Amino acid sequence: MVERGARVAEKGGMPAFPHYQPAHRQRLQAISRSDEWQPLIDQVDLAELRAAVAPPPAQPAQQSAASTFLIRHNGPRVRKLIDEGVTDEDQLVAALGDWQTAVADGGPMPIVFLGLAVTMDCSFEPRCVYCNQPWLPGRLDLADWKALLTEAAAPTPPYVYITGGEPLILGPDVWGDDGLVAFAVKLGCAVNINTNAALITPQIALQMTKIGLARLHVSLDCADPRLQDELLQSPGRTEEVLAGIYNVQIARELLGVDHPQIHVNCVLTSRNILELPKLLRFLLDIRQSRPTGSTGEVTGEQLTWGEFAFHLIPVGGEGNARLRPSVEQWKRFYARTWPAAEEIWQDYQAAAGVAADDRKPLTRTLGVAASPFLRVDHRMDLDEYCRLAAGGEYWRGALSERCYVAGCQAFILPDGAQHWCGGHAVCRPTPLGNVREAGLRDNIRANITRLGETPTDACAGCAGVTCVINQSAASALREEVRKWLGQGK
Ligand code: SF4
Ligand code: SF4
Repeated sequence: MVERGARVAEKGGMPAFPHYQPAHRQRLQAISRSDEWQPLIDQVDLAELRAAVAPPPAQPAQQSAASTFLIRHNGPRVRKLIDEGVTDEDQLVAALGDWQTAVADGGPMPIVFLGLAVTMDCSFEPRCVYCNQPWLPGRLDLADWKALLTEAAAPTPPYVYITGGEPLILGPDVWGDDGLVAFAVKLGCAVNINTNAALITPQIALQMTKIGLARLHVSLDCADPRLQDELLQSPGRTEEVLAGIYNVQIARELLGVDHPQIHVNCVLTSRNILELPKLLRFLLDIRQSRPTGSTGEVTGEQLTWGEFAFHLIPVGGEGNARLRPSVEQWKRFYARTWPAAEEIWQDYQAAAGVAADDRKPLTRTLGVAASPFLRVDHRMDLDEYCRLAAGGEYWRGALSERCYVAGCQAFILPDGAQHWCGGHAVCRPTPLGNVREAGLRDNIRANITRLGETPTDACAGCAGVTCVINQSAASALREEVRKWLGQGK
């Protein structure tokens, strides 16, 4: 009888998992010899599969796309104003950031971010305790979604964010050879799937890797399986989530690539906010420490590749008020929890052999999208922030005077309703239109005057990362105006 490990070796080598901690390496090797993986490994031709892997396309420059477009289209007009003697900086910045004038020439507008909520159904029933996704019927089929992608991808392919509900319940329509992800990748789009990971079988993990999926955002809120099961409202669910993550790690190893990279979405509630250091320690124990194929001394840059970067998402929705962290918990989070997590991260880098002067802070690496207060400039001190956060207002002090990014992104719900962004897709003010009746860019153009009114009350749930991009666009516009004003002196 051939030993299972030996059979894997015959098929192209026992996965070595060289960049994992020993305990997790052994766990992954044991899983790859299990009844779930072994028949699949026996069945597929790994060499053929490796040759068929599509590399994920590069992500567009979301950070600078809006300001670049606005400066290109409004710049000549603003410089003329300066030549005519206008020196009011705020007036000039407002003119430079005016989407209405920028799109008036009818030229192609870039869409750099396209969110697709492909279903509001979910495989988790009962739902997670904090789930605040209002249900909607699915009215778009695969052909409709593909048509949207085709429209969005010209002239430049956007970053495509597939979410739900749980997108993977749509099966091959999402991950098949003729599904949404493969189609978007062929158009040149970097694609991310937001998932609870529980449906990621070995076969699906291999398939998603083969078709060039760039990233998975997996929901994981804490390291304690008992508490996590409580948050997911079902005993044993945490194990299913972790099994999905491990299947992805095995698939990547078998195919010798680093995609899809895994990020963690952690919803911050009163029950897990102070548990972050334990979650980070757990993630560091199971993460691939550096990219496949990297050898020699570990550098800070290698170690901080994005694997298991984590996104802290303060619990949203009025119905979840009971789950919000208190003022005291928020204060404790910033005074003790975050520094404790930082210490764990520094120790991890030291233990990996990264030189002291090459070690990076958590806020600039795995935690870059994590700390709601530290990641964005707020027009308030920490005490005031904690008071507002306890009331469910996380971003009020971080919103820019005007939204610059919404003009070059779109978020589509399963019934075809188009919103400016993910924040609006949850609270659902009047949509821009419906993609079953008009094109993506037509809907944006038809509503472009409304951008001058943003931020509105519906912007209270703006994603933190969007606040960062908006702030960066605002400063790029101001910098440009200052440069031109300086040149005019
Ligand atoms: S996995 Fe997502 S969509 Fe499903 S119940 Fe949980 S939060 Fe809601
Ligand atoms: S929530 Fe408001 S400010 Fe944020 S991206 Fe959407 S429209 Fe812009």
